[in-house]
Amino acid sequence: VCRDGAPIYDIVLEDSFDRLPEEMERLGSQGRKLCIVTDSNVAPLYLEAVEKLLSGCFSQVTSYVFPAGEEHKNLDTVKRVYEHLIQNRFDRKDWLAALGGGITGDLCGFTAATYLRGVDFIQIPTTLLSQVDSSIGGKTGVDFDCYKNMVGAFHMPKLVYANVSALKTLPPEQFSAGMGEVIKHGLIRDQEYYEWILENKEAVRNRELSVCRRLICGSNRIKRQVVEADPTEQNERAVLNFGHTLGHAVEKLKDFSMLHGHCVALGALAALDICVKRGMVPEAEADRYRETMEYFDIPVSVGGLTKEAVVAATKNDKKMEAGVIKFILLDRLGHAYVDRTVTDEEMKDALDAVMERP
Ligand code: NAD
Ligand code: ZN
Repeated sequence: VCRDGAPIYDIVLEDSFDRLPEEMERLGSQGRKLCIVTDSNVAPLYLEAVEKLLSGCFSQVTSYVFPAGEEHKNLDTVKRVYEHLIQNRFDRKDWLAALGGGITGDLCGFTAATYLRGVDFIQIPTTLLSQVDSSIGGKTGVDFDCYKNMVGAFHMPKLVYANVSALKTLPPEQFSAGMGEVIKHGLIRDQEYYEWILENKEAVRNRELSVCRRLICGSNRIKRQVVEADPTEQNERAVLNFGHTLGHAVEKLKDFSMLHGHCVALGALAALDICVKRGMVPEAEADRYRETMEYFDIPVSVGGLTKEAVVAATKNDKKMEAGVIKFILLDRLGHAYVDRTVTDEEMKDALDAVMERP
């Protein structure tokens, strides 16, 4: 058990859902209603067990299941959850719980942030990406038209309860995508952690429980340190966006057919290329990172796009400030900073490192 005692909220790492009731009661669940929001893949795996466990801690436990997939992370789904809450007479003191991956967490968190001007919610993340990243930090939101995370709110969960055993049922490509963000945490903040991941890569790939637990603990610590220093992303929190400027552009141009964690890793590889060319990171490190991506089945190149299109797509990224892109670079392995001087030419050059020739 890793309880990361925190001023904002607790992150609890467990090997089962069994301690959920205890945690809920500790937070004062008695007499309240709970709505568990989950998607159509996670529901058949875990919903019944979680509902059963929690039924005694609340006056009523209901659930809302939405179809899995990014195309459902939108205001239509939020509206249906509002309708469900209204039908079940949820009021200001009732709670929501997000049981699932980052999509469920973002969607449920946004619903909680806005229903009756805000109700409490719990994160029960079940993907690697959500356990190490998206459930922590209070960013919630949904996509709007073709714009990702365009509508959202900062809304901190009351508790993050991660059952590491749930990773066993995660499809391999989803585990691989999660590793994209995990490795990023090491690159931007903690070289020691980065080396530890590389040393334990076999156990990580085999999803050995004890190693996964340490991995999630390590990543949580980094994400939380960065977030706590700058909760609303005025400056420092932006380092978490390493790999995201080019990654988001690729993700969007590929119509979200590539997984987010994979796009981010690819964006990080391109960003590392800029760091190498600026003499901040040795070339051998970029090679070692590429090999690590390959080890975790993360694609190291993308086809069917032009460099011009990718660079153009970075221009309507949310990370723009007064027309200048806040690009995240490493001035050394394990330390990221916000750079406002990256040119289109540098980005195009870097994209050569990750684009398949037509
Ligand atoms: P996801 O929620 O779609 O989960 C991935 C897939 O795995 C889904 O099909 C889901 O049904 C399935 N699944 C979930 N848990 C499972 C399990 N234990 N066993 C079997 N299948 C399972 O995607 P994700 O990768 O977790 O999250 C991606 C989303 O997170 C994106 O929308 C992204 O924008 C968002 N995100 C948010 C933040 C943030 O800070 N809020 C950070 C990073 C990413
Ligand atoms: Zn991300």
